[in-house]
Amino acid sequence: MRLPDCLFCGRSFRYKELLFFMGSAKQCPRCKNRQYISPDSRLRGALYSFFFVVLFSLGAFFINASPSLYFISGFFILIGAIAASPLLIRFTRKEEPLF
Ligand SMILES: [Zn+2]
Repeated sequence: MRLPDCLFCGRSFRYKELLFFMGSAKQCPRCKNRQYISPDSRLRGALYSFFFVVLFSLGAFFINASPSLYFISGFFILIGAIAASPLLIRFTRKEEPLF
């Protein structure tokens, strides 16, 4: 996994530029072109979140975790998912529908 490059000038996006990036379009700081998150990386992001939620629920169910442990581990999973999100982003030049 690596950070995506600008599709127009090839400049690599920095980690912090993509962290907490929630919109669908990202402007390159160098060439100012806008690019869009590709439908497959969007889908992949949704699948990862779904996977984590299922894993987390199953884990808590089988381990029979105490509520405080449950919330603490949930918090760390959430932080981990946010921290990994810039690495999952891929861009396209045009906005494409998911389906
Ligand atoms: Zn650029």
